[in-house]
Amino acid sequence: MQSGQLTNCIRCGRLFLKDHSDSCLDCYLEIEHDFKCVAEFLEIDQNRYATIEQVSEGTNVSVKQISEFLRDGLIFSEDYPNLGYGCSHCGKLIKRQLLCNECFVQFSTDVSRTLTKEKLLEEIQSK
Ligand SMILES: [Zn+2]
Ligand SMILES: [Zn+2]
Repeated sequence: MQSGQLTNCIRCGRLFLKDHSDSCLDCYLEIEHDFKCVAEFLEIDQNRYATIEQVSEGTNVSVKQISEFLRDGLIFSEDYPNLGYGCSHCGKLIKRQLLCNECFVQFSTDVSRTLTKEKLLEEIQSK
């Protein structure tokens, strides 16, 4: 018999035997329940234009949890015009990934700038 690995639940931090998920069974069931509430709420026609705050109010599921559903693609934010979560950098409403376009572009330029700088430094040092 194969024994699982003890890990901290990503949600409540409690130690649990890691099986198929990153959260303990209690949290797993809670998340599943939350997901069902959100999915049911969004199935109602008039909720199609709800914002994440309205969904949270209507379902008692935290905004953070709903953002996770969106980020994980469990809920297709593309289907809901006003549904999205904050860009990790500027907080602007986005529907996928972690950053909005502007921050993504900004971030990529920063990265390439840093890379160029590092490359330059390397070249200088290798001389
Ligand atoms: Zn847990
Ligand atoms: Zn942003």
